[in-house]
Amino acid sequence: MASVRSRLTVGYSAAVIGVLAVYTGAIVAQQRLAAMRSVGDDIRSTARLASAIIERQSFRGIAVDTVAVQASPFTPAVTSLLEQLPGFVIIGDSSQVFFWSAAVRQMQAQAENPALIPDVRGLWRQDLDRLTGIAYSSTTGATERRVTLNFDDVLLTAQVFDSPLGGGVRRIVVGESLRRMSESTMGILGVALTLAPLAVGLAVAVGWGLAGRVLAPVNQMVNDVEAITDGRSLHRRVVLESDARDELGRLAQTVNDMIARLENSFGSLRRFTADASHELRTPLAVIRADVERAMTTSDDAHERAVALEEALQQVSRMTGLVESLLTLARADEGRFDLITEPVPLEPVIREVAETGAMLGEERRIAVTTPLVEPVTVPGDAERLRQLLLNLVTNAVKYTGDGGRVEVTLERRHGEAIVTVKDNGMGIAAADLPFIFDRFWRVDRARSRSEGSGVGLGLAICQWIAQAHRGRIDVSSRLGRGTTFTVVLPSDEHLTSA
Ligand code: ADP
Repeated sequence: MASVRSRLTVGYSAAVIGVLAVYTGAIVAQQRLAAMRSVGDDIRSTARLASAIIERQSFRGIAVDTVAVQASPFTPAVTSLLEQLPGFVIIGDSSQVFFWSAAVRQMQAQAENPALIPDVRGLWRQDLDRLTGIAYSSTTGATERRVTLNFDDVLLTAQVFDSPLGGGVRRIVVGESLRRMSESTMGILGVALTLAPLAVGLAVAVGWGLAGRVLAPVNQMVNDVEAITDGRSLHRRVVLESDARDELGRLAQTVNDMIARLENSFGSLRRFTADASHELRTPLAVIRADVERAMTTSDDAHERAVALEEALQQVSRMTGLVESLLTLARADEGRFDLITEPVPLEPVIREVAETGAMLGEERRIAVTTPLVEPVTVPGDAERLRQLLLNLVTNAVKYTGDGGRVEVTLERRHGEAIVTVKDNGMGIAAADLPFIFDRFWRVDRARSRSEGSGVGLGLAICQWIAQAHRGRIDVSSRLGRGTTFTVVLPSDEHLTSA
């Protein structure tokens, strides 16, 4: 399995080589086109020159129309001028040849060269026949074509005239080798191939170096994350040299945020487990002591009954605690299926206030409901009752003798607003942010000794409110009292939404 670094290097090098290949190809194509054009220009101007030379003779009246077959109609001066023309030049009338340039004669010489083996001579003969054959197959006008011969590649222009030029000329054929074109191609390819190993080497080196630089922070990050092996090393963070805002910076930030969340969850899990064990250990110790007392005082029936009753109280307390823990654990897992039905809150409020009044009766605490409007919310009636009862019980519990607790229910902007207000001991501003935390109590020692809750009540209240897409707010002043406000979306709100 190749590393990301080598894969990046290969990809980068392939891209560089591809670009170079395309670039070289484009240059070659452009050069070939230019060479082809220049050969074309050359042969056309040679043809023009040839006809000008022949015309000059006719103007001077030297030429005769009725030339004997195979005899050159040109004066030696004209012939020597024609000899100066480059490339393959064939001049004649419609059926006969008057002039062959040196290049054509050279071909003929090769075709008859006794020094060559017959096969090679045959090839030269073939080339000569092909050239002259094409020269004589073209019809009136000027045509240009590319001819591939055994020994060369030639661009030909054949100019055929209706009325003869001087000397009865009707046909001028000029050709030039395209070797120039292939030579330029070979030149460029030669340079490209010579430089290719250098280019590939450079691409690989640059690619390897770049990939290494880019991946170095990733490797560093992997090492950092690897060093976080268990819950105890969750305080460590991924270090990024520059606080870059690029992708790697964001990755490091995301990983760090995730570790922070993990650290948080681990911390609360640890605290939760410690708190839960602590809360369970105390009643267990009391039960044990009670049972031991009941066993040792077997002859005193009254004392035994007192010990067993106390044990029973502790068992009920433990049962409540375990039930709360189970509720929260299920809520955390999202395994709690709330029944959703229209719940009229008015009767719930009245019932809860009545229970509160009964609880506070002994301590002369008045629980009143000064304002109760009819509001229906979608939700789980049992859970909503638990939420409100918890708040009212707390209000009674944390209010001094002769205190007041008010419970109200209003409908405001499509929401049900429940307030539970007491004039009890209140909560210090510093404690307010924590009161919904699990196992949190203002004064742990006092609460337990009074046999009250364990600090899970408000955590459960908050979960119930949130599960109903609502919220709980609290405002309090130490020594003055506390107001809890529960906001729940009402039926009306849902239908209008
Ligand atoms: P508990 O079972 O101990 O009542 P809760 O989660 O219901 O646990 O409440 C957490 C803590 O918040 C309580 O221990 C108490 O200190 C504080 N608290 C809750 N309600 C009130 C209130 N109405 N007035 C003053 N303090 C309150």
